[in-house]
Amino acid sequence: GSSAESYRRQHEITVTGDNAPPPFTSFDATGFPSELLREVRQAGFSAPTPIQAQSWPIALQSRDIVAIAKTGSGKTLGYLIPGFIHLKRCRNNPQMGPTVLVLSPTRELATQIQDEAVKFGKSSKIICTCLYGGAPKGPQLRDLYKGADVVVATPGRLNDFLEMKKVNLHQVSYLVLDEADRMLDMGFEPQIRKIVKEVPTRRQTLMYTATWPKEVRKIAADLLVNPVQVNIGNVD
Ligand code: ADP
Ligand code: MG
Repeated sequence: GSSAESYRRQHEITVTGDNAPPPFTSFDATGFPSELLREVRQAGFSAPTPIQAQSWPIALQSRDIVAIAKTGSGKTLGYLIPGFIHLKRCRNNPQMGPTVLVLSPTRELATQIQDEAVKFGKSSKIICTCLYGGAPKGPQLRDLYKGADVVVATPGRLNDFLEMKKVNLHQVSYLVLDEADRMLDMGFEPQIRKIVKEVPTRRQTLMYTATWPKEVRKIAADLLVNPVQVNIGNVD
């Protein structure tokens, strides 16, 4: 309706795709479970950011998304909260492998995502584990062995564990490629492709990127199915 259009205009949101749902302009409009709403309010947030407002309703329809938005726009909860709701709908045994997989370019970013996942996932009893290079494998393997619903990983370390047959991705049905442009700049494309081969094709895939060069378009075309594209601001 026109309120959706005025919100999009006001926040410089462009949406491309079939029948994209209107944005959630408030937390109440999300219909998120009360424990999640309590967490976002306790964090001091008063409204969804534009990327959250527009990508949440799309993600909750289980559709693939490409989201192009600059740093600091709230992308992490943009994919984590729909991931948590996905987990409520399809609860696998976490000891058999994760259901939600987030790929992130660096250890620093991966641990930030992990912190946010632990903070906002605790009330939903979601178990999250973080895998990254430059640290001993032992503690990460022990965490994996205990089981995790959500794995946040850098492509290099996750690929090492796949080659060692220490992690099973056959239950993954919600896959996030965060900072896809940076992962490609860092040369992670071969590892990403090997990882995605281990994930069932019947899945939801969400890709977040700050820029939209042809390398990113290519991998999006290969890994996503009929995605809805959301742009915030003038980034393209
Ligand atoms: P990005 O991944 O787009 O760079 P982040 O997800 O790291 O952005 O979010 C940036 C900051 O904004 C974080 O400190 C996060 O906790 C905060 N944040 C997330 N959602 C909201 C919101 N709805 N309102 C206010 N702050 C938010
Ligand atoms: Mg981010």
